[in-house]
Amino acid sequence: MKKGAYVVALKTDGIDTGWKTFAMCTPLTAPLFFAEQERSSVGKLRVAEARRICMDCPVRKECRAFAVDAGIDDGVWGGMDPGQRRQWVRTGKPDF
Ligand code: SF4
Repeated sequence: MKKGAYVVALKTDGIDTGWKTFAMCTPLTAPLFFAEQERSSVGKLRVAEARRICMDCPVRKECRAFAVDAGIDDGVWGGMDPGQRRQWVRTGKPDF
């Protein structure tokens, strides 16, 4: 499957999403990115794997900024779960 198809399918009216062409996530890995609702240890492992994929993604910063700007409050985006993204915003969006 085409890389980045997971984020390509998003509704992104008015927001620059040219970065999504370079996304490391795919439709096959998408379930990993929304496993935070799972209370089991398997769910935690899935989220950890999603975050690991993000760490190798060349558009991690753009993806994280997109999720915040679009108000997305679920899933792993740019290597962060929703709580981590809220923390990132509260602390002034530090660059790392
Ligand atoms: S940072 Fe993670 S969620 Fe965002 S495009 Fe890359 S792999 Fe996908």
